[in-house]
Amino acid sequence: MTTHDATPDPAPVDAAAALSPATLAVVAGRPAPVQGAPVNPPVVLSSTYVSQGPPVPGERLYARMGTETWEPFEEAVAALEGGRHGATVFGSGMAAVAAVLALVPLGGAVVVPRHAYQATLGLLDQLAIERGLDVRRVDVADTDEVTRALDDADLLWVETPTNPMLEVADLPALVEAAHSRHVLVAVDSTFATPLVQRPFEHGADIVVHSATKYLAGHSDVVLGIALGASEHLTDHLRAYRTSHGAIAGPFEVWLALRGLRTLALRVERAQANAAVLAARLAAHPDVVEVRHPSLPQDPGHGRAARLMDGFGAILGVRPRGGADAADAVVARVALWTPATSLGGVESTLERRRRFGTESVTVPEDLLRLSVGVEDVEDLWADLDRALRAAQG
Ligand SMILES: *Cc1c(COP(=O)(O)O)cnc(C)c1O
Repeated sequence: MTTHDATPDPAPVDAAAALSPATLAVVAGRPAPVQGAPVNPPVVLSSTYVSQGPPVPGERLYARMGTETWEPFEEAVAALEGGRHGATVFGSGMAAVAAVLALVPLGGAVVVPRHAYQATLGLLDQLAIERGLDVRRVDVADTDEVTRALDDADLLWVETPTNPMLEVADLPALVEAAHSRHVLVAVDSTFATPLVQRPFEHGADIVVHSATKYLAGHSDVVLGIALGASEHLTDHLRAYRTSHGAIAGPFEVWLALRGLRTLALRVERAQANAAVLAARLAAHPDVVEVRHPSLPQDPGHGRAARLMDGFGAILGVRPRGGADAADAVVARVALWTPATSLGGVESTLERRRRFGTESVTVPEDLLRLSVGVEDVEDLWADLDRALRAAQG
């Protein structure tokens, strides 16, 4: 007898917890290994399910409420994040963000990094008008500043590393400060991925990802996912998704799970590439500043090694010569793709302040680089050539 006809026996939670994230990314959310079963979960394209009479609890009824194609991806991300109450996939990262922000009561207060994701800050500005929210922008790497802003707050929103400044927050200290004031902590962990940082291990209440980025990893889907540390929070996320219709298409979720299988390979390679590029760029004559958590000289970054299991693969680079030189670098790269977004296998870059909505505390000349999985020497040669050409 082989393991093929072994009775499927769901692994206990602590057995799953003993597996490393690189393994979980590959094995979590697979169909039970029974004779003749597919190795991958199928995509089910059906808006409704056969049903009559009083619905029994948990019965599938209608695809806005839940589909079997979402569940394997949700299981896999929950396993990676150590989320004991499952995960809730959404039609985009912003849908997941909106679901979390809906927890804040009318007139409530939210503490948020001044360099949070632009659309999150934009949504908070909108909610300040519509729902009277008090939005307090802080330097999330400054634990004292964040702590001072927490009085009478309802939610602490954390992004670490931040976008696009790559500031690193002291998550354990922030969670402690927030919880002692009964403030909920949500972490947008998109930049870090569960390989670099697992916010539940530091006591966070909610974890959010734009799965568009590293989790799916191939720049071919827009998707979000959120996890709650309690059943109550998880129920909120599910109910919000259903009532707002903030749902993902089955095929997008299937693609995201396909991408997730190689998360460890992609993130390990991308961040190794990023660390090499960060060090070389820091010594480049045509570069005035490099921001990456692997560089110990940056404020707030000295603690990165203690707070994260890696550094991520996003870099901030300021070329010599200001915004014009930065635009010239973007115009002159050949291998790197000028594009917004991040976390794909391909390397991309953009000057962030080209967007009028970008925070004025982000330097005009800052390029955000999303380092991909190409050969690092090819990436370096292209960047080095573009940096030199941009000066001429
Ligand atoms: C992209 C992104 C989002 C929004 O996700 P979408 O999938 O684009 O809706 C939220 N937070 C961070 C940090 C992001 O990078």
